[in-house]
Amino acid sequence: MTDTERAAELIAHAERTVVFTGAGMSAESGIPTFRDALVGMWENHDPMTLASPEGWTADRDLVWDWYAQRANDVRRVDPNDGHIALAQLSVAARIDGRAVSVITQNVDDLHERAGSTVASHLHGSLFAPRCESCRRPESADTALITPRPMCPLCGDSLRPGVVWFGELLPRDAWAAASDAVAACDLMIVIGTSGVVQPAASLPERAHVQGVPIIEVNPEPSELTRLATIRLAGSAAETLPRVIG
Ligand code: NAD
Repeated sequence: MTDTERAAELIAHAERTVVFTGAGMSAESGIPTFRDALVGMWENHDPMTLASPEGWTADRDLVWDWYAQRANDVRRVDPNDGHIALAQLSVAARIDGRAVSVITQNVDDLHERAGSTVASHLHGSLFAPRCESCRRPESADTALITPRPMCPLCGDSLRPGVVWFGELLPRDAWAAASDAVAACDLMIVIGTSGVVQPAASLPERAHVQGVPIIEVNPEPSELTRLATIRLAGSAAETLPRVIG
C-alpha cells in the first residue's frame, strides 16, 4: 500500500478528524506564507511594527492600512483545490454521522469560502475588526476600508481582529480547538512549520493521546517527527488525491 492509500484508509475510517492548517494551506491561492512574506509583505517593515500591540500603539494608521491591504488581497483570490477537498470531506463525513473539525492558524477566510465550517481561528481573522475600547465587533467589509474607521458606538479606534505577538489567543477559539483535539481519533496537519506556540502544541497533544497524524507539507517541519504518515506534497495537489 502506498502512503497515499494508507492515509486515505485512515481518513475513510476516522470518526472525529481534526484538520489543523497553517499558511501553506493558502499558498497556492496566492497568499504568501509567513516565511515567503519575510521577503515579500514584511520586507519593508519589522514584523514587530506590524504585528505587536507596541507597533499598533506607535502608528495605528500604518498598521491598519497594512491589514486592510492584506484583507483586500485575500478578497481577490479564491480557495484552492485543497480547501475544496477539505470542504467535501466535511460534507461526506456529516452525511455518515462523522465529524471533521477545522482548526486554522490562518487569518484568511478561504476555508469558509470553500464551504468548510471553521471550528477555531486560533490567530483571529482579517475579517473580524473590533473596537479596541468597547470591543464592539464590526462587519467583515469594514476591514477593507482605509483610512482607518472609528467605532460608531464609542468613537474610539477599530483594530484588526488578528492576534499579535505577545497577545493571548481568543479564549473561545482555544477552548474549541482543545475540545476538538481531546475528542479526535485522527489529525491531518497541513502547511504549517509548527513553530508558533501554543498552536503547535495541539498536534503534540494528539500524539500523546495516541492519535495517528497525517502531515501534508512539501518540506519537513517541526511536526514531522509526530507524523504517522508524511505526504510530501502541496496542499492543493495532495488533498484531492487523498480525500477523493
Ligand atoms: P509558516 O509560514 O511558518 O510555514 C508555512 C509552512 O507551509 C511551511 O512548513 C511550508 O513548507 C509549508 N508550505 C508551503 N507551501 C505549501 C503548500 N503549497 N502546501 C502545503 N504546505 C506548504 O506558517 P505557519 O506555520 O502557519 O505559521 C506562521 C504564522 O503566520 C501563523 O500564525 C499564521 O497565522 C500567520 N500567517 C497566516 C497567513 C494566512 O492567513 N494565509 C499567511 C501568512 C502567515
